[in-house]
Amino acid sequence: MPQAATPLINHALPSYLDPHHLGPWGIYLQQVDRVTPYLGHLSRWVETLKRPKRALIVDVPIHLDDGTVAHFEGYRVQHNTSRGPGKGGVRFHQDVTLSEVMALSAWMSIKNAAVNVPYGGAKGGIRVNPKTLSLGELERLTRRYTSEIGLIIGPTKDIPAPDVNTNAQVMAWMMDTYSMNVGETATGVVTGKPVDLGGSLGRREATGRGVFTVGVEAAQRIGMPIEGARIAVQGFGNVGGIAGKLFAEAGARVVAVQDHGGSLVNDRGMDVPALLDHVARTGSVAGFAGAEVLDAGEFWSIPCDILIPAALEGQITAANAPKIQARMVIEGANGPTTPEADDILQERNILVLPDVIANAGGVTVSYFEWVQDFSSFFWTEDEINQRLVRVMKEAFTAVWQVAQDKGVSLRTATFIVACTRILHAREMRGLYP
Ligand code: NAD
Repeated sequence: MPQAATPLINHALPSYLDPHHLGPWGIYLQQVDRVTPYLGHLSRWVETLKRPKRALIVDVPIHLDDGTVAHFEGYRVQHNTSRGPGKGGVRFHQDVTLSEVMALSAWMSIKNAAVNVPYGGAKGGIRVNPKTLSLGELERLTRRYTSEIGLIIGPTKDIPAPDVNTNAQVMAWMMDTYSMNVGETATGVVTGKPVDLGGSLGRREATGRGVFTVGVEAAQRIGMPIEGARIAVQGFGNVGGIAGKLFAEAGARVVAVQDHGGSLVNDRGMDVPALLDHVARTGSVAGFAGAEVLDAGEFWSIPCDILIPAALEGQITAANAPKIQARMVIEGANGPTTPEADDILQERNILVLPDVIANAGGVTVSYFEWVQDFSSFFWTEDEINQRLVRVMKEAFTAVWQVAQDKGVSLRTATFIVACTRILHAREMRGLYP
């Protein structure tokens, strides 16, 4: 059944700036407060980081297959464009809110600056459960949303990409809709496109490859061998599935997985390619024959070396952080750890590789895709993977060094590196008019 139109929500604007309303945006504001003492004279510009530059709420009406009209609420937020055009994904999910999109856009500003790609931060989303839509309805939803946010996106203004429940096909529709509206084929308006439409080789695997790359870098520094390491992955989609595959190929054992459909355990390690086939066929890890069913709550207490949350935000909380048995958490998802849980993990000496560096591989290859589109010259997959690994290693090394020098967590260190870059750009540009 198609989902009924979602009623408009009253977003009282001042409340989204309230740090005590600890949604994703409140969490982000706390993270900025933590980093401010380390910003030196640039801290006079810190307010810039605490407000989105621009936030657009759009009504997205579409004809459903039964002939009725449904309305959905969509958003595009440009958090900061001091270092370049806005850049960040588009999420289709029933829980999307303006506050969430704002936080995700801000984390994109931090991430893009952390890996030093010349972008600001942006994010978009539609409050919809796309699993309730037919393919035709999904296409109409995507096209109308693209037309509505067409006011503020563009190859040199703001470049969307895939996120939860959006993929290369959705990007192709977005590219086509924008192109029809401006009267020319504008491949550079979105990244994560199909390879035949100006997409980049290696983009689909890039975020998972980045997760794997920083994981290996961190493991070397704490003396943890990857060979034989026990891995638990929450979310076995684009990010978690690829990260799990690469760790397994490097000799690690994926001992536990969880997605929206169920949780599985196999102490000997799962056959990851077979599990990926199963997910591709059925849409979930549930029902996979090569593992046993695990109670969802027990997933967090599975003894492992590396835990990879790669689903949604707010998954590691004060309630489950004390049970986590990992030596290292690699945040494949955006915002998976609440600030209280972050403190608990730090007290328990569990190393957290924060989202803003750990999952930056996707936007790094998106940047490569955008560069290739502009130059109409396409690189080989090997070239892309090598450049990706180089960017991730360099960024991680810089962040690790700051963490060591200042005695702070890797999250605060990443924020120090990124906020310094953003605010330095802000200061040099000055205010206009
Ligand atoms: P995806 O849609 O491919 O996969 C999402 C996975 O999360 C699925 O396995 C789904 O079953 C699982 N999931 C959803 N709800 C869940 C729940 N309540 N409990 C357990 N599992 C649940 O999405 P993705 O692209 O892999 O994105 C995952 C996360 O990584 C998101 O936070 C996203 O913002 C972030 N991220 C993605 C990219 C990218 O390039 N795709 C880049 C950076 C960050």
